[in-house]
Amino acid sequence: MSPIDALAEKLPTGRLLTDPDVVDSYARDRTFLEPGKALGVVLATTRDDVVATMRWASEHRVPVVPRGAGTGLAGGATATEGSVVLSLIRMNAIRELSPADEIAVVEPGVITADLDRAAREHGLMYAPDPSSYEISTIGGNLATNAGGLRCVKYGVTRDSALGLEVVLADGRVLNTGRRTVKGVTGYDLTGLFVGSEGTLGVITAATVRLRRAPLAPPATFAAEFGSLREAAAAVSAIIAAGCQPSLMELLDRATLEAIDDWRHIGLEPATRAMLIGQSDAADGQAVALRMQELCEANGATFVAVSSTPAEAEELIAVRRMAYQAKERLGACLVEDVCVPRSALPEMITAIEAAAARHDVKICTVAHAGDGNLHPVFIFEHGTAEPPAEVWAAADEVFTKALELGGTLTGEHGVGLLKRRWLDLEAGPVVSEVQRGIKAVFDPLGILNPGKAI
Ligand SMILES: Cc1cc2nc3c(=O)[nH]c(=O)nc-3n(C[C@H](O)[C@H](O)[C@H](O)COP(=O)(O)OP(=O)(O)OC[C@H]3O[C@@H](n4cnc5c(N)ncnc54)[C@H](O)[C@@H]3O)c2cc1C
Repeated sequence: MSPIDALAEKLPTGRLLTDPDVVDSYARDRTFLEPGKALGVVLATTRDDVVATMRWASEHRVPVVPRGAGTGLAGGATATEGSVVLSLIRMNAIRELSPADEIAVVEPGVITADLDRAAREHGLMYAPDPSSYEISTIGGNLATNAGGLRCVKYGVTRDSALGLEVVLADGRVLNTGRRTVKGVTGYDLTGLFVGSEGTLGVITAATVRLRRAPLAPPATFAAEFGSLREAAAAVSAIIAAGCQPSLMELLDRATLEAIDDWRHIGLEPATRAMLIGQSDAADGQAVALRMQELCEANGATFVAVSSTPAEAEELIAVRRMAYQAKERLGACLVEDVCVPRSALPEMITAIEAAAARHDVKICTVAHAGDGNLHPVFIFEHGTAEPPAEVWAAADEVFTKALELGGTLTGEHGVGLLKRRWLDLEAGPVVSEVQRGIKAVFDPLGILNPGKAI
């Protein structure tokens, strides 16, 4: 019996898909990367399906690629040749939501925004909100330690993860962490699994922290600047003034042009950058007006401040259009460098210089309050690989980020795409220790091989 027939025997009917077209549709994420040919897709519905799959994979030494919604931007969920894709999208129950303990226990396939909406019915919120939160899963968010727009105030996914249920490579079930606010028993295995990109185990449940939802709707501003440097200076001024924005996003001219071409936002010729910020504090309107003043003091040519929730939504809508607007321009290599906030202006200058030097179109959006920039390198659709000049410009951007004390990836993960630069940041000792950790959890090397480390 072939290994894949043996797997079919171990799973309830309908959980294993082998039709090549269907398998291919589960083999890609949102990168341009071509996947390897997978043997099949397991649509896990219960933890037992995951356990059975991992036991089988260990027995037959078949690589397993865990998968949430496939919205990743680093190639983490891209299928490996000869692998089985293990989709968690159908494990999507919110098992518990406790207002008293301010926690939820969820399965990995829950869509991020669905958990937030469920929490809001109890006056709570699930804070991590990647821009993809309407389409990404909690499992994928945990595996990539996803950030988001609100993380400038509420932290990244790791800051909301209290405990995990994980199926290990050999099918054993590991429970990490706790459901208490505090806890220091043993090593922090929850923290280790968050951001491990499916290379250490398969997350089958998570206990996550909820927070009180703000009482008032957030107040929003959008400020236009004649230069990116002025916009970056306004970011520093807002942080230094203690405004505690709940969101602070920066869009460069190339991104604004892409949005304007698509949705006609009335972009002024002199506008080189837009800063969009929000306060969800009880006195949010007053804070937004204070942020307006700070933008103006740093050279803003125009600032709009919302006075109703609908106006706030309109201002933020511009930011939400950014990724789709860029996808219309061509194929995208989306990068994710993060630098100390104070180095934001220098990083932006370096990105502009790399674009000019290599004659590459780069559109940049930044979670400016976190120093996390997404330079998106545009190249022709239908090209299997980005051309040499794109890699050269990306190389320059990564090198500069590391020089400034930053990191290759703030929130998307290493996946396959950033592995070529990994040694520059990690160095030999870190790499050796990480390989040692991988060997403890996955001695046969079957879990998402070739990714992350
Ligand atoms: C328009 C757009 C906007 C985005 N904005 C943001 C943003 O603001 N912030 C941000 O951080 N990211 C953003 N992303 C990237 C992406 O949405 C996130 O990385 C997200 O966390 C991936 O979730 P997913 O369910 O799609 O996971 P997938 O893409 O399916 O998987 C991602 C990684 O997680 C692993 N994985 C998935 N589920 C599990 C599991 N249950 N157990 C173990 N490993 C697992 C996979 O093997 C893979 O390595 C954006 C993407 C798009 C397309």
